[in-house]
Amino acid sequence: MRPKIIWLTTNSCAGDILSLLNARHPNFCQMAEDYFDFRFEPFTMAAEGDLALEPLAAALNGAAGEYILVVEGNIPTAAQGRYCVIAYRAGQPWTALEAVQELAAKARYVVAAGTCAAFGGPYAAHPNPTGAKPVSAVVPQKVINVPGCPVHPDWLAGTLYHLVAHGEPELDAYNRPLIYFGETVHDRCPRRADFENGNFASQPGEPGCLYRLGCKGPVTHADCPVRQWCGEHTNWPVGANTPCIGCASPEFPDGLSPFFEHLPDFKAPPLRLSADRAGLFTGALTALGIGAHLTANIATGRLAQTLKKARKGKTRTARALRKLLPRRLD
Ligand code: SF4
Repeated sequence: MRPKIIWLTTNSCAGDILSLLNARHPNFCQMAEDYFDFRFEPFTMAAEGDLALEPLAAALNGAAGEYILVVEGNIPTAAQGRYCVIAYRAGQPWTALEAVQELAAKARYVVAAGTCAAFGGPYAAHPNPTGAKPVSAVVPQKVINVPGCPVHPDWLAGTLYHLVAHGEPELDAYNRPLIYFGETVHDRCPRRADFENGNFASQPGEPGCLYRLGCKGPVTHADCPVRQWCGEHTNWPVGANTPCIGCASPEFPDGLSPFFEHLPDFKAPPLRLSADRAGLFTGALTALGIGAHLTANIATGRLAQTLKKARKGKTRTARALRKLLPRRLD
């Protein structure tokens, strides 16, 4: 029997289901016929009205643990959640907040598909008038986050297959599957040698590393450089000469914009580094394990404190930092 999927579309652009419809090997039809039983998915199902809602009622009235709940979109919490009503139940609006909480309580697994569901994303960007929150902020159950704006079809389908065949995949601190989000974009970028050698593009379309044009690859965990996009895995942003904007990151979009301004480690007071030292500098930060929180740390001054402490040690990283950082950091 194929495992049941209940797919709720909440506060979102529907980009994640559109991305899944671009899946190949297997494609969406094969997925729906051979692997999963999509009991409720509003974008592709033919039923409307009360008939369409029957699978949700059956899920709520059935035994626990019989389906995987996939949520696409974040959850508005302002105005009792009435900024996102997914249906009317007994004549009353049924908010996304209520639906997600009720359905998550009986789900075998809860999966957040896309950055909005996983971390808030664009639909929770400042000033966030709907009070939108990620799924994990409104349910007590564990939520497996599969981010991306949109989510890559392989990331989502692969996570669902893993849940069914092997159980929960190994997750990182943000509950993202390590098989897809274990390394940064920068780690596997084919332009990494340009970064290390200080060959930086000065405008989109030029060869060279796109760091100075705002590339967020150094702080974004995803396997885009090796997996690639566009159905048949043909290209990805840096391959098309445009910087990674960090769409799979928890900080996206507010913490990573303006998208075409480089990260603050490149020329952030009191740190002023030449381009050819930037690679070594970021390598040192990565070794310290603070790369992912670079923006926030610099903004609050915590990065400077961390670096000051780190360079007093005897490790290779400390020696690199002593050479790189100006004395006036102290
Ligand atoms: S900064 Fe961006 S373009 Fe440059 S090497 Fe890293 S991921 Fe690639």
